[in-house]
Amino acid sequence: MKLRSFAIRLFAACMLALALPLTADERVKDERVKVVTSFSILGDLTQEIGGDRIQLTNLVGADEDAHVYQPTPDDGRALLAADLIIANGLGFEPWLYRLVESTETSAQVVEATRGVLPIWLEEDGEKVPDPHAWQNLANARIYIANITQALSNAAPAHAAYFAEQEQAYAERLAELLADARSEIERLEPSQRNVVTSHDAFGYLGQAYGLNFVAPQGLSTETEPSAQEVAALIRQIRESGIGAVFVENIRDPRLIRQIAEEGGAVVGGTLYSDALASEGPASSYLGMYRHNITTLAEALRTAAATP
Ligand code: ZN
Repeated sequence: MKLRSFAIRLFAACMLALALPLTADERVKDERVKVVTSFSILGDLTQEIGGDRIQLTNLVGADEDAHVYQPTPDDGRALLAADLIIANGLGFEPWLYRLVESTETSAQVVEATRGVLPIWLEEDGEKVPDPHAWQNLANARIYIANITQALSNAAPAHAAYFAEQEQAYAERLAELLADARSEIERLEPSQRNVVTSHDAFGYLGQAYGLNFVAPQGLSTETEPSAQEVAALIRQIRESGIGAVFVENIRDPRLIRQIAEEGGAVVGGTLYSDALASEGPASSYLGMYRHNITTLAEALRTAAATP
């Protein structure tokens, strides 16, 4: 009996030691804003603005498909521990909103697309917004403004720091925008038709005057039918679509088959809804530069060899 109560007291003492006040270093670390982002592109943009003042947990990682993501219990715990949740919005990540509801997290949910002018498309008789707004650099400028605002609201003491980070990043965006324009503007009208796996590049097409078609719609949830694939192959043959691209988040086999049957070349890999896990496309700016360069090169070459 005595031995047991000693053990209990020892245990209690250990717990007390664990609960001792944090050291100064640990306190600084603890004051970082806990932010959860839904997918890798938002994760990168948020880290660029938040720097060392935030503690970031990103849910859907590099090369992963956020449309069909299945949240894990760890994701639920991350939402519960968060001060701030940053989502894309425009219907991109319905699972996140379900998870916010089921966990009853008290964290604020902010949409990075707030203020973006959406592209509306008709899908199954319904008008739906295209969620892939990050594929336009002008929208990325809106994303970082919203992220900066959200972080500053969550941690007003760091607002000046976040504003500086935003300014520096905006300059890099502007540089990339100038490069992207000069790459694309050299393409002839006949070189501006592109096929990708799913409809992820509407905003990029709108920004630079490229026409994107895809066998799959805005989401990757439903597979294209045989008729849809056959119609696309006919379109490639008849309208002289220059190049066909695979996406990092999709199985490349269907696109390879479409290219072969349509007599088009596979122009390379485009990063649609996720960053690369390594290499130059593992940041938003690197990803965008890669996409523009890959598109421009393939479209020029495809037209040169009819
Ligand atoms: Zn997508």
